[in-house]
Amino acid sequence: MWEFGNLAASSNEKVQGYLEFPDIEEKLPLFLINGQEGPRVLIIGGIHGCEYTSIDSALKLGQSLNPEEVKGKVAILPIANPASFYSRSIYVHPRDGKNLNRMFPGKEDGTDAERLAYWLNETAIKNVDYLIDLHGGDMIEALIPFTIYHVTKDEQVAEKSKEMASLFEIEYVVGSSGQVPGSTYGAAAEQGIPAIIAEAGQQGILSDENSVLLQEGTKNILRSLGVLEGEVSRFKSKYLSKFDWYRANQRGLWYPSVKIGEMVRKGDKLGDLTDEFGHVVKTFHSDTNGAVLFLVTSLAINENDPLLAVGE
Ligand SMILES: [Zn+2]
Repeated sequence: MWEFGNLAASSNEKVQGYLEFPDIEEKLPLFLINGQEGPRVLIIGGIHGCEYTSIDSALKLGQSLNPEEVKGKVAILPIANPASFYSRSIYVHPRDGKNLNRMFPGKEDGTDAERLAYWLNETAIKNVDYLIDLHGGDMIEALIPFTIYHVTKDEQVAEKSKEMASLFEIEYVVGSSGQVPGSTYGAAAEQGIPAIIAEAGQQGILSDENSVLLQEGTKNILRSLGVLEGEVSRFKSKYLSKFDWYRANQRGLWYPSVKIGEMVRKGDKLGDLTDEFGHVVKTFHSDTNGAVLFLVTSLAINENDPLLAVGE
């Protein structure tokens, strides 16, 4: 029997149902696939509610995987943040304005996003040996596919996470050493669970091509872990050691000067933030040499909003 919160699957059984948490109104759809003996893997989609391609990708994996082909246990949560999904809330939980992917490992008596992070960590992340968290560009973000892992002090966990992050047919792999606190993959790695984020899709558009890219990469990881049978595909990844985020110092209008995927050099102009009369209030220049991995495409920008990120 594999117990998973209020749900459970016997061996060689697939269960689908709603995961319920104390003090949380929304119920989370869950696929539980309990095969033969083997590792336990958690696949998450929809931590950010408008990253549709990754949500679709997790859902398709939940529909297609069966206990007969699984050596191990796979849990899939395609819509991990239903309140954000149904309110089409960009970045944040609609009730507390907090980014769920900055809240892990969460707080039992915290705000909505903090409590959701807490229960996801207690019920789902602590219940597995590996975590694959699927993301993409949010409603207002252009993005080229990339994967991220956390360079944690536990070298074995960091090395395993890096290997997992390299198993997608995706050029860029970012090894992040904690610039983004409170993430799913960071919190998992700190708890000794190898974990990655894979990002594909963008701007509120459901892309079949990118959904398949995420599904195939996830299945490739499952093959490398021995959960699925078959040969593991290997790719030539480019490893980026730093993930530089640029944020708005005040609200205004954002005019990027670079395109998604473009290579920039230190000092290159990245874009202008203007006031509502068109006067430039700040010109952003690149601090590093690297690739533009995501780019906010919204003209309207609030104070402290991300503008873009350069992988070094
Ligand atoms: Zn995301």
